[in-house]
Amino acid sequence: MIIDCHGHYTTAPAALQAFREAQLATLKSAGAAAAPQAPRISDDEIRDSLENAQLKLQRERGTDLTIFSPRASAMGHHLGNESISGQWSRVCNDLIHRVCELYPRNFVGVCQLPQFPGAAPAHSAAELERCVTELGFIGCNLNPDPSGGHWNSPPLTDRHWYALYEKMVLLDVPAMVHVSASCNPNFHATGAHYLNADTTAFMQFLTSDLFKDFPSLRFIIPHGGGAVPYHWGRFRGLAQDLKRPPLEELLLKNVYFDTCVYHLPGVELLCKVVPLENILFGSEMVGAVRGIDPRTGHHYDDTKRYLDALPLSEPDRQRLYCHNARRVYPRLNARLSAAGVGGP
Ligand SMILES: [Zn+2]
Repeated sequence: MIIDCHGHYTTAPAALQAFREAQLATLKSAGAAAAPQAPRISDDEIRDSLENAQLKLQRERGTDLTIFSPRASAMGHHLGNESISGQWSRVCNDLIHRVCELYPRNFVGVCQLPQFPGAAPAHSAAELERCVTELGFIGCNLNPDPSGGHWNSPPLTDRHWYALYEKMVLLDVPAMVHVSASCNPNFHATGAHYLNADTTAFMQFLTSDLFKDFPSLRFIIPHGGGAVPYHWGRFRGLAQDLKRPPLEELLLKNVYFDTCVYHLPGVELLCKVVPLENILFGSEMVGAVRGIDPRTGHHYDDTKRYLDALPLSEPDRQRLYCHNARRVYPRLNARLSAAGVGGP
């Protein structure tokens, strides 16, 4: 079985975006405008939005199950207010739930959190609990910078976030560290802001004792870990200079990387530098980079091709494609085991 740990509903029906625009428009109207009704989207519209996109690509590329969440760049935690962010998150998460109900073999849900600059992460814990216990989700996307590029929240290792972490531990679900759109023109969203956040989160974890407080807390750093694997020697050296334990001891029982690096040399480096137990197959399709590489004739985000090209043993390949994801997402493992799919 091949599990893609990183997919977003980037092709959702237009009614979703229309709802979002109506929702944000209420802020501009005079007086207390009523929140718009949740968007009306039929099952057929959901099927149409997926059949020629994510489902077609799953079939063509030979992947089985995508860990699926709302469109990350549209989370827009910096927009509106906390109540608007809450409503938007519920609508997006409910739609992911419908996708997972329609295609239970192809998708399993991960939620967007109702974050807002300055809002207490305890409020996000409540939506996480709803998504896990009522909708069957297996994790969340956590935005380390709800301001959208101004970085004015405490670091992920600050006690500010602990109420959310306590809930994650209680529910036994991991978070993917995932920023949203950038409203700072210095940072292109997918080309700079995403990768900056990945690198930043890793360095925050390296300099803290967060995982002493939460030994079972787990994070996936997406996009191949930003600059981390390329600069692995720098991070090891910094840990040493700072009198921190070796990275394996300090954070590799808690931090994982996906394979959303869109060329073979990048995936080769990732798999050479980072222990294979810490790497989860991911593609982020249909997402940030949609084109075809003229040098290979294949989509940049067809990351399975890069993994297939690596000289890995069959057990190692199984770990990257399936078993690591089942370890990091125990609720997925339990579901697959209950369905008779052999586990790690
Ligand atoms: Zn993503």
